[in-house]
Amino acid sequence: MVDVYQQTGVDFFSSIKDIIEKKIDHEVRRADSFDIPEDAYDAMRKQHHALKIIETIAARHRPNSGFNLCLLHDDIYIDRMNFVFGLADPRINTAVVSSFRLNGTHLIDRLVKEIVHELGHLMGLGHCADLKCVMHFSNTLSDTDQKSADLCTRCRSING
Ligand SMILES: [Zn+2]
Ligand SMILES: [Zn+2]
Repeated sequence: MVDVYQQTGVDFFSSIKDIIEKKIDHEVRRADSFDIPEDAYDAMRKQHHALKIIETIAARHRPNSGFNLCLLHDDIYIDRMNFVFGLADPRINTAVVSSFRLNGTHLIDRLVKEIVHELGHLMGLGHCADLKCVMHFSNTLSDTDQKSADLCTRCRSING
């Protein structure tokens, strides 16, 4: 089970539910809306700290056996990175994906890839060298556009 928490004003759920369910073979369920916690905002960077967001959501809604997925439209970062498309922390079974840098005609395709990527981390997968594999790390939007929304054969066998 994947519980999808969306930032107030964001509604990607209906666009991604069926596709994600097919890709990962887990039920995807709409959960609450939320506002980004104030202490996650860095006023100098004008960005939100991705780890603080998922820690806050995980503390409020501890996943029993499934996963939490947070969807945002604001820009997110982690330490030592200018930005991230998403972040997953398997210790708390929670991930976040931001649409901020995915905008354009392929928004939903890109969002699906980054969601499958972060859920892949929650399922124990690491980064993959295969440029077409969804577990390939996206440093830029062209990396995201180049990769598919699917696991490569090797990652699929690890995922069992
Ligand atoms: Zn990753
Ligand atoms: Zn792979």
